[in-house]
Amino acid sequence: MSGTLKMKTLGAVLRSAGKPRPYSVSRPLELVELELDPPGPHEVLVELRAAGICHSDLSVIDGSRQRPTPMLLGHEAAGIVLQTGRNVIHLKTGDHVVAVFVPACRHCGSCDAGRPALCAAGNGANGAGTLLSGQRRLHAGAEAIHHHCGISGFSKFAVMAENSLVRIDKSVPFDIAALFGCAVLTGVGAVMNSAKVTEGQHVAILGLGGVGMAAVLGARAAGAASITAIDTVPHKLAQALKLGATATYCADAADVIDRVREATQGGVDVAFDMSGSVKALESAWHITRRGGRTVSCGLPDPKHLLSLSPAQLVAEERILQGSYLGGGDPALDIPRYVNWYQNGKLPVDALISASLPLLEINEGMDALASGTALRQIIVFH
Ligand SMILES: [Zn+2]
Ligand SMILES: [Zn+2]
Repeated sequence: MSGTLKMKTLGAVLRSAGKPRPYSVSRPLELVELELDPPGPHEVLVELRAAGICHSDLSVIDGSRQRPTPMLLGHEAAGIVLQTGRNVIHLKTGDHVVAVFVPACRHCGSCDAGRPALCAAGNGANGAGTLLSGQRRLHAGAEAIHHHCGISGFSKFAVMAENSLVRIDKSVPFDIAALFGCAVLTGVGAVMNSAKVTEGQHVAILGLGGVGMAAVLGARAAGAASITAIDTVPHKLAQALKLGATATYCADAADVIDRVREATQGGVDVAFDMSGSVKALESAWHITRRGGRTVSCGLPDPKHLLSLSPAQLVAEERILQGSYLGGGDPALDIPRYVNWYQNGKLPVDALISASLPLLEINEGMDALASGTALRQIIVFH
């Protein structure tokens, strides 16, 4: 393949946020044939094989997470490196890779401190809808298309920064591999890195989407003594029990906080809000015991505010913690979690509720928004 050849790719582009549901009718994601520039320095061309549909994509579509448009969405993906640009150090053609939703520059203070989630260059590029280089490699005729989280995974082909990618073992099926980039990285990372859950601790998880269910698996792998799972959707509660939850509660029940506090003798050691709702985060706070830790991976609308008692924070020596990108270094965490999957310690294949073609992406967004789906995977052929 020539270094200057422009590829064509079919991608799911969001032109404007805030279209009404059902998305099967309003069709916020348009399938558009796009031109893809060759990879620049430190960039690679990837043939994507699978991409997960995550709630953060939905938040961009409904406008609660504002991003520049037009944007090709998708931020949980896996594929094969087809071509490398100049100065690519870590990857070669044929490598199997998982995409990570914050590219790390690897030379700022945050990256040096082992906290790439805080990389200013990576987060700046994500906010601007560019690759880490500041460039956009996607075009519809004369119009440049923004990248989503440096990935834009709802497309057969993508150009990404090499630092957006982590190489994985070639034996992992691509639909499962994709999960490690967001759901598993975020959910298991919150348990292992942010909260550092240890054997015998009592934990609760609120919000049983892909990230929340991955946290259930993570808590089981960490040896939690009890795992309380809370959601509004009954079949998700049933699924959580299969994955390792030891008790479940409907989030809509008026007395859920009192019941959990009573069942856990004053609250859990660690409560995780995985829902992106302020109400769930406040509930997580109220079911955390004195001296305990409340961790949130949710990303609610930035205008929403939290209402907590600072006196309780101090007098009960509480910890309230945010966790982004799994609270660690994806380049180290993803191979570790893949290894746990291969050893049976982390059966993440149970997170996949359906596979669908790219053509059905708007229907997939409806299924996610209505709560009927866990993790749906777009499979490319
Ligand atoms: Zn995600
Ligand atoms: Zn950095």
